[in-house]
Amino acid sequence: MSQNIPSGIHTIRGFMGVCHLLIDPRGEAVLLDTGLVGEPMQIRWLLRRFGLGPESVKAILLTHGHIDHAGNLAWAKRWTGAPVYAHPAEQAHIDGTYPFTGASRWCGRMERFGYDVLNYRTAKIDQFIRDGDELPFWDGLQVIHLPGHTEGHCGYYSQRHNLLFSGDLFASYFFNVHLPPPILNSRPELIFGSLRKALDLNARYIVPQHYDILDGELHRRRFDALCGRKLGVAANSERAVHRPRNPTTKTR
Ligand SMILES: [Zn+2]
Ligand SMILES: [Zn+2]
Repeated sequence: MSQNIPSGIHTIRGFMGVCHLLIDPRGEAVLLDTGLVGEPMQIRWLLRRFGLGPESVKAILLTHGHIDHAGNLAWAKRWTGAPVYAHPAEQAHIDGTYPFTGASRWCGRMERFGYDVLNYRTAKIDQFIRDGDELPFWDGLQVIHLPGHTEGHCGYYSQRHNLLFSGDLFASYFFNVHLPPPILNSRPELIFGSLRKALDLNARYIVPQHYDILDGELHRRRFDALCGRKLGVAANSERAVHRPRNPTTKTR
């Protein structure tokens, strides 16, 4: 495990992206997204490693309803009995009924292909979330609505750890830090506003759902560079006057 990340975050690496199991010191767990194919085995194994069973998962939080995040949602809900938290706009994505238009119609076609191949089953959101909601998991997670990739796309911010789970706001790979490709974005006109909103949070750590290694400081630096490119000089000069939320915890 990298040291540039708070403890209790466990990566479940899937075919396309990652999902996370967050485990607090009391042994209570939260599943952040559910992956596409192969994740259930890893989730079971991880929990067992910590001496935990499915009942220790207290909530399933979704960043959004694309199939690589909600692919195992029905299984996870059934296996853990935990409620699903997501923005109401994501139910149509989970159900495969979202009316894709323009370039994002390709996203709909790919998802329909995936539903057939994977024998995908839909599941209902139990708790609708909105921007600013405080959730009592992992010592407190605040919902940060970051629309653009989808209309109800949300990140989750941990004030205690000064960490933003940024969902699919951007993907962070070595030499390839990028916004989601246009065919995957249903509300592209909202993306820049969400980039700015995430930047203004000024979290010490950022953890997306598509990345190479689990290093929250590295993803934060890559995100800054991406915003510099996408939002231009104004964003960089604004950033210079920002203060970190917890200046004393900054190691460099
Ligand atoms: Zn997505
Ligand atoms: Zn994704």
